[in-house]
Amino acid sequence: MKVLLVYAHPEPLSFNAAMFSKAQQTLLAAGHELQFSDLYKMDFRAVSDRENFTKLQNPAFFKQQLEELHATEHGYFSADIAAEQEKLEWCDLMIWQFPLWWFGVPGILKGWVDRVFAMGRTYGQGRLYENGVFKGKKALLSLTTGGYESDYLEDGFQGDLAGILRPVHRGILEFTGFTVLEPQTVYGPARMKPEERDTELERWQKRLLHIETEEGIIVGRY
Ligand SMILES: Cc1cc2nc3c(=O)[nH]c(=O)nc-3n(C[C@H](O)[C@H](O)[C@H](O)COP(=O)(O)OP(=O)(O)OC[C@H]3O[C@@H](n4cnc5c(N)ncnc54)[C@H](O)[C@@H]3O)c2cc1C
Repeated sequence: MKVLLVYAHPEPLSFNAAMFSKAQQTLLAAGHELQFSDLYKMDFRAVSDRENFTKLQNPAFFKQQLEELHATEHGYFSADIAAEQEKLEWCDLMIWQFPLWWFGVPGILKGWVDRVFAMGRTYGQGRLYENGVFKGKKALLSLTTGGYESDYLEDGFQGDLAGILRPVHRGILEFTGFTVLEPQTVYGPARMKPEERDTELERWQKRLLHIETEEGIIVGRY
C-alpha cells in the first residue's frame, strides 16, 4: 500500500515524534511504500493567500476558490502546494499524526489543508463525499491529547471525541471522498508512566501491521 504520513509537532523528542517514527518503521518493515510530510521540518507555509499561486487570474480581487479552479486548469499552484497535492493523489492511505490543540489540529496542519485541498483539484464540480475526488483512499487521524480518556466520553467534561473530530472527519476527509478509519488516540501521554507510553507505541505498531484490511467508519451527515 502507498502511505502518506503527515506529521505536525514542533518537538523532535515529543511523544508525537515517537508515534510518527513508529509508523514509519512499522509500515516500511511491512513492505508498504511511504512518503511523508513533516510540516515543521519543512517549515511549511500555513498562511493561505495569493502566494498559493504562481499566476493569478484576477490580481485586482483575490478570490481563493476561483484562483484554485484556474490554477488546476493551468498548473499555477506554487511548488510547495503542487508537491503536496501529488502526494495526496499518490497515496492509498493518509495518516495524520498530531497533538489535539484547541479541539482541533495545530495551525500548521490546518494551513496545509487550507492551501493543498484546492477546489477543482481536490473537490468540486459535483465531486464530493461518495463521489469525491479521493474515493477509494483511506484516511486515519492519529492524535494525542492533554486530557484523560474519561474527559472525552459523551458524559465527560470535555464532551465526546467523535464530536470534536467531526469537522475534520466529515468536513475535510469525507467531503473529499476519503473513507475514514477509526482514529488512533493516545490520551494524556505526558501523564503516563514510561511503560504505559511503551504500551501505546506497541498498540500503534500492532494496528499498523494489519491496517490494510481495516474497514472504514461512516461519519455521515449527523
Ligand atoms: C496550543 C495548545 C492547545 C492544546 N489544546 C488541547 C485541547 O484542546 N485538548 C487537550 O486535551 N489538550 C490540549 N493541549 C495539550 C496537548 O494536546 C498535549 O500536550 C499533547 O497532545 C501531548 O502530546 P506530546 O507529543 O506533545 O507529548 P510530550 O509532552 O512531548 O510527550 C509526553 C512524554 O512522552 C515522552 N516520550 C517521548 N518519546 C518517547 C518514546 N519514544 N517512548 C516513550 N516516551 C516518550 C516525552 O519525553 C514526554 O515525557 C494543547 C496544547 C497546546 C500547546
